[in-house]
Amino acid sequence: TVRTRFAPSPTGFLHIGGARTALYAWAYARHCNGRFILRIEDTDVARSTPEAVQGILDGMQWLGLTPDEGPFYQMQRMERYKDVLRQMLAEGSAYYCYTTPEELERMREEQRAKGLKPRYSGIWRPEPGKTLPPVPADRQPVIRFKNPIDGSVVWDDLVKGRIEIANAELDDLVIARADLTPTYNFCVVIDDWDMGITHVIRGDDHVNNTPRQINIFRALGANIPHFAHLSMILGDDGQKLSKRHGAVSVMQYDEDGYLPEAVLNYLARLGWSHGDDEVFSMQQFCEWFDLDHITPSAAQFNTEKLNWLNAHYIKQADNARLAALIRPRLADQGITVSELPALDVIVGLYKERVDNLNALAAAARAFYTEPAPAAELLAQHLTPESRPLLADFIAGLRDVAWEVPAINALIKQCISQHGVKMPKLAMPLRILLTGQAQTPSVDALITLFPREIALERLVRGIS
Ligand code: GLU
Repeated sequence: TVRTRFAPSPTGFLHIGGARTALYAWAYARHCNGRFILRIEDTDVARSTPEAVQGILDGMQWLGLTPDEGPFYQMQRMERYKDVLRQMLAEGSAYYCYTTPEELERMREEQRAKGLKPRYSGIWRPEPGKTLPPVPADRQPVIRFKNPIDGSVVWDDLVKGRIEIANAELDDLVIARADLTPTYNFCVVIDDWDMGITHVIRGDDHVNNTPRQINIFRALGANIPHFAHLSMILGDDGQKLSKRHGAVSVMQYDEDGYLPEAVLNYLARLGWSHGDDEVFSMQQFCEWFDLDHITPSAAQFNTEKLNWLNAHYIKQADNARLAALIRPRLADQGITVSELPALDVIVGLYKERVDNLNALAAAARAFYTEPAPAAELLAQHLTPESRPLLADFIAGLRDVAWEVPAINALIKQCISQHGVKMPKLAMPLRILLTGQAQTPSVDALITLFPREIALERLVRGIS
């Protein structure tokens, strides 16, 4: 069976790029009826934080990218890495190297002076018939992997195509300190091996690690997984992603009023395509998703498109769910949502008009606070000639049946009596009731309020 993994380092947020990698690894496992594994690569103790781990878990949960196995933590696997290191030292596929950092710098200088690529000289590399220097007494060695010297490493990258790197290009990688503390590239290989990963799907910032990792897999006699290196995501402006566009936590999208299904749908299309299909569910995505249709070139973020998808999913979302999402946003603004007007009815009327949950909250807010229309709005719409019109309408409102058709009839009657067009009445009503000029149709708007509250707002407004 296919086994994929997402292996974030908890040194920062789960950002948009990481979320897309996770989504693709998850979807590919779903597509193949396989397993999706979450592995937290926390061996960089200085830079890993528990908050970052939590942030990653929260982000994945918000997106609904549930792992089938894990989270596994590399820090809990140290004994295993040490066992493999001991085994490699014993078998001769790894060796102690006593070169000091200063000596290493000198070796590199010499190479550079010869116009060669700076590298480790291989002085401590054991070879048949070679005499190694005497072991310095007071020095802590590192452990290096004995990389093949001849030939090359070749793999058919499932996104980038065939890649070939000559072994001559690759140094003997440091895989651990003398105390057997393993390094990053080594842990990744042991984990992918132990976890039976069949497809490594990750960002192409790791492409340079892959040939080194393949050599270690080989030395261990392990199966080599397939590799799919995803190209990077650029910002709206074609520049590298920055805080301004997407290098922020996915949870920021939650805060900014996006629905997770909009973000998922957006990320699914950011570097992968299925004909002209733009809007699809995650179930549909998992059915369609394959590695053949991943775009090898960089993908460009497009906020407008994300907003468009968000508007689409907000319209589709059920009112009770939207109300539940809006309620804490209103509470954060210190607004208590009373029973009437009913929040789910309000969101039901406004959801057609917004592309963002915070805009929906802002619209709903007006129903639970005193309307505070802008002075220009009032001046423009609450004119001396609109007052008698409003007064008549308010009088009618006192005993009209509290339902849309009756109120609609009252509005029609009122404007025809006064010989004015609809906006002359509708605009001041909107503004006095909600403080806003943009609202759903005014008859429906009025019925959202209990009669007393509607009357109170209108009477106070024209007095
Ligand atoms: N831990 C690495 C990162 O966060 C990913 C390693 C991998 O996927 O192989 O960039």
